[in-house]
Amino acid sequence: MADSSLVLPPSSLRLTADRGALAANWVALDAVSGGAKAGAAVKADCYGLGIDACVPVLRDAGCETFFVAHWSEVAAVSAHVPPAQVAVLHGVLNEAECAYARATGAVPVINSLEQAALWQAGGGGPCHLMIDTGINRLGIAPSDANQEIISSLDIDILMSHLASADEDSPMNPRQLDAFRAARGTIAHRRASLANSAGIALGKDYAFDLTRPGIALYGGVPRGELSDMIRPVAQVEAAILQTRTLEAGESVGYNGTFTASTSMKVGTVSVGYADGFLRMRGPGNACFHNGRRLPILGKVSMDMVVVDLAAAPDLAAGDWLTVPWDINAAAPQNGLSAYEMLTSIGKRLRCN
Ligand SMILES: *Cc1c(COP(=O)(O)O)cnc(C)c1O
Repeated sequence: MADSSLVLPPSSLRLTADRGALAANWVALDAVSGGAKAGAAVKADCYGLGIDACVPVLRDAGCETFFVAHWSEVAAVSAHVPPAQVAVLHGVLNEAECAYARATGAVPVINSLEQAALWQAGGGGPCHLMIDTGINRLGIAPSDANQEIISSLDIDILMSHLASADEDSPMNPRQLDAFRAARGTIAHRRASLANSAGIALGKDYAFDLTRPGIALYGGVPRGELSDMIRPVAQVEAAILQTRTLEAGESVGYNGTFTASTSMKVGTVSVGYADGFLRMRGPGNACFHNGRRLPILGKVSMDMVVVDLAAAPDLAAGDWLTVPWDINAAAPQNGLSAYEMLTSIGKRLRCN
């Protein structure tokens, strides 16, 4: 048994979600949604930033509709908001999920005729409906809109999802037209099409409710949003140890960096298990008050080593900023801004 009087010392690694920036991002996206109200995609633990850190901020900013993917995500979100405000994008696959939906009060997004039948067989009740207008992932075909089982549903949000809203693609107006047509044939209370990038496509795409995700958390999927979106995630890690390499000594697994002269280096408490993936090592650097400290050798599971030439005064316990600018850094690393956030490891998440 753990001793309950034990107090966990502060971690040598921390993620700070700038709550003011998160709230401001939601308010800005709600405002540019025009007459529509913004909801929030909070799936994948708020894109890696932490449900407990982010959902109360979004709720207090005015958000009233929260999207998750899995039933396993419902309880954590419902700890902060009424379960009826939680929509589950994967819908219901079996009776166990229908029963869980009814017990919790979270609302399934029905994605197929089979899901519609399953939901109605279990007693029905309010649900949302996804209609596929071209992404070919989840959702009923527009040609199935007039099926009896669909007409029998009690649909709150009728939604569709844009495949290429981050580009100026002819697919956007095509999907818009298909969604408009579907709206005319399916009874519903609210209509919703736009994700973050879709909001930037203009008011035609906003309908009654928008569903921003990445932009809430600091991602800028389209240039139109760049002036209004503030960065949210900041990662810092402590130096665990400093040492001096002599010329010819190498650093880390497989010794991929070799010192050409005597140099002071620091071992830093962040690694690929935290989401600082190996591909993010080469050419990258940590920072201390603007001083650039290049990463040397391979990223380990729990550590990286940096060159302290620009900051020889630093010692064990000093904090460094770990580069996590999702808009600038993501393309350099061959990762999307989405992946930069959702790869954040469990021990680094905010709470
Ligand atoms: C994830 C998701 C969103 C949010 O998308 P972003 O590009 O992160 O804004 C909206 N709608 C659906 C259906 C999603 O799966």
